Amino acid sequence: MPPTVAAARPRAARTWPERLFGRWWRRQSAAHQDRYATLGPLFSVLLFLAAIISAFWYLRNEEFEREQEAVKRDTEISQQQLRLRLIENQEQLVRMARDIVTRGIERQNFAAHTSSFVRDRPEITNLIWVGADRSRIAGHAVTTFLPESGVTSDDTPASMPALRSNAEPERTFVRGRESRQTTYSGPFADSYGHTVFQVQVPLFERSTFAGALIAEYSVERLVRYYVPSEVSSRHAISLLDRQGRALASTVMTPAGSPPRRGAINHEVPLAPAHNGLVLRGQGHRTSIGLISNTLFWMVAALSVLTVWMLLGTGRHMRRRLQMQAALVSETNFRRAMENSMLTGMRAMDLEGRITYVNPAFCAMTGFSDADLIGQRPPFPHWPRDRVDENRRLLEQELQGKSPAGGIEVKVMRKDGTIFDARMYVSPLIDPKGQQTGWMTSMTNITEAKRIRDQLTASHERFTTVLEGLDAAVSVVSVQQGELLFANRSYRLWFGAVAAGHALLSGGQASSSGAAPVGEAIDESVDDLGGLPTQELTDAGSDSREVFVESLQKWFDVRARYLQWTDGRLAQMLIATDITERRHAEAVAASQAEKAQVTSRLVTMGEMASSVAHELNQPLTAITNYCNGMVTRVENNAIDKGDLVAALQKTARQAERAGQIIHRIRAFVKRSEPQRQRAYAHTIVEDAVELAGIELRRRNVAIHTYVAQRPPPLMVDPILIEQVVLNLLKNAAEAIDNAHLPTARRRIELRVLPRHSEEEGDTIEFIVTDHGPGLKEEVLARLYEAFFSTKVDGLGIGLSLCRSIIESHRGRIKATNLYNGETPIGCRFSFTLPVETSRSDAPAAATA
Ligand code: ADP
Repeated sequence: MPPTVAAARPRAARTWPERLFGRWWRRQSAAHQDRYATLGPLFSVLLFLAAIISAFWYLRNEEFEREQEAVKRDTEISQQQLRLRLIENQEQLVRMARDIVTRGIERQNFAAHTSSFVRDRPEITNLIWVGADRSRIAGHAVTTFLPESGVTSDDTPASMPALRSNAEPERTFVRGRESRQTTYSGPFADSYGHTVFQVQVPLFERSTFAGALIAEYSVERLVRYYVPSEVSSRHAISLLDRQGRALASTVMTPAGSPPRRGAINHEVPLAPAHNGLVLRGQGHRTSIGLISNTLFWMVAALSVLTVWMLLGTGRHMRRRLQMQAALVSETNFRRAMENSMLTGMRAMDLEGRITYVNPAFCAMTGFSDADLIGQRPPFPHWPRDRVDENRRLLEQELQGKSPAGGIEVKVMRKDGTIFDARMYVSPLIDPKGQQTGWMTSMTNITEAKRIRDQLTASHERFTTVLEGLDAAVSVVSVQQGELLFANRSYRLWFGAVAAGHALLSGGQASSSGAAPVGEAIDESVDDLGGLPTQELTDAGSDSREVFVESLQKWFDVRARYLQWTDGRLAQMLIATDITERRHAEAVAASQAEKAQVTSRLVTMGEMASSVAHELNQPLTAITNYCNGMVTRVENNAIDKGDLVAALQKTARQAERAGQIIHRIRAFVKRSEPQRQRAYAHTIVEDAVELAGIELRRRNVAIHTYVAQRPPPLMVDPILIEQVVLNLLKNAAEAIDNAHLPTARRRIELRVLPRHSEEEGDTIEFIVTDHGPGLKEEVLARLYEAFFSTKVDGLGIGLSLCRSIIESHRGRIKATNLYNGETPIGCRFSFTLPVETSRSDAPAAATA
């Protein structure tokens, strides 16, 4: 903050009102201070204007009073002058009147006697001596008319009192006669039309009224000669009659204009006449008229200008204040933002000195702003071992060459720990558009970097796994048919195009080459339109085996629908190369077939003596029949009927022998495994028939039980026969080898329909013997090929049985029978699923 002006002055030097005002001022809010600062000058200008107006008003009043005073004084001076003159004249007239009466002045001498009087008094226009009968005895008239005009000084009838006239001279005459005193008349117009008034001095001869001496004053001359010139130069002095009409004045008024009334008037009666004439002094306020005063108007105009300018300034200030408020709120907003954000901000001047750091920067580095502001490079947050690198980066920063994407740096905290940060640099521009420094923003990217590294690692692992897979993985967008992802195996086999995907996904594609991808996809879009993705992704994950001709390879293809990272519906195929497996399976199948045949041959080989013995019976019987017949024919001891019967018996025996041989041939004959509808009892019958030979030789009894009308099976009957025969033979051998008593020399073969949760409807074949049972070690290795406990055993019987049963989707198991702890035999059982399709077609799924 800049130092305030007040602070520049020492506190002690301030007086108490200053302090008081200062305290009050500081208590005001900023808005109030601004208002006072605007209104203060306005108020003082108005105050100044008011002071000027009141000063003017006071001065004008003063002037007015002075003028009034002057008018009054001048009027009074004039009155005094006139009075003195009138009194002096009156005294002279009285003296003359006495002379006339006492000295008996003749009419002829009158003129001589009065001429000096009249000559010295220009205001007197007429001096007449009248008798008691109102007749003119003598007179002295002053006239200004030229002799050629014909007007004489005696021609003054208007001034004469006339009996019964109501004119002023008559009335004054009567009044004087009666009061016996000098009497003044009111003003009237004389014979020439001039306004005059008379003073009449009555003449008494021993108390007898003897007439009067009449002096006539010209009002106009009275004013002209007896108002002092210095008075008339200052003020207009006029004489008015009773009605206020101006009769004479020191100033000439233009003819016809009404008498002007001055602003200041002072009126006094004309003494000692007291005849209604009034002396008026007039003053004009010409000097200080407020309204007409130029100075006043200048001051007023300047004040108005100042007020207007102040108002303008106020308005401007208000606008500035609004802008300031907006700026303050903007600054506060920015500061709040700056304080709340997690990005560290650092400002530098053009020389690289830190001028500002925000709280986030301090929090990030652990340094306080006092530690940082004003610092020059090397900065405290530079790691010690990276000063050179940082200096180079700073150099680059100051030259404005920092990359726009920011730079990654290592930053040291106050406690010496290091973290990764990303810095972005932008120039600081002042309002004039000039660069003043650089603003650097810094974010801690340790966590982000760790996560990114982890993500990269996991992505790498993921890609490595996918790339390393032997299976071809491909993802194609359903709508565009665009290859979104393909792993290395896919690229190796099909290249980075979607054609391979179409080849693998389209059923016909494998045989007819590449089908148009778009078409196949479009069809699937139509089919799948409106289905929720979740169901799609779950659907269609069954595997199919596809042969790709161009590669001469078999693939196990699993398809899934999934939502791609950008939300598109995509199909993913995982194609596993199963050519090897197919090959191995084919080899294994052919080997198994060979083994089966071998096994049958072995079985037959083993059974050879039994078979020979079995064949011996019908052959012996045939021989016996033939010998018997030959003897009886030679002796002619046989009739035709007996011969036919004997021949039929012979034929039956031969047939029996043939059947045995046929069955053995059928059993041993190498043939492709053929599944067909077969019935359990046929299989059991044939197996028991073949086993019968061996059982009889070993003296072992067999009990068979086949459930009534069991459902048909879809099996290769010869193979199942082989399994049953094998189990029966193993049981017989075990019993025989253990030299068991007759009671235990029996085997049970039961065939029952079963139902279980996992296998569904099956038919179970159970072979139970009462032999020695299976030992622990034998149980563990029972189905191992070439495992045998017998001296001449091959050990492939049970392993073949298991593969035959499992290839028919059945199960085989062996358990011991116990009597307490002692085994009293064992039970081999296997299940076969019943035929459910009820059709002769082979199941397609395991083609
Ligand atoms: P081989 O009969 O040629 O020995 P097998 O695979 O058929 O081969 O039998 C394996 C072994 O299982 C036989 O050697 C025998 O020890 C034992 N075994 C099979 N069936 C029985 C049985 N019913 N009772 C006792 N042991 C048996």
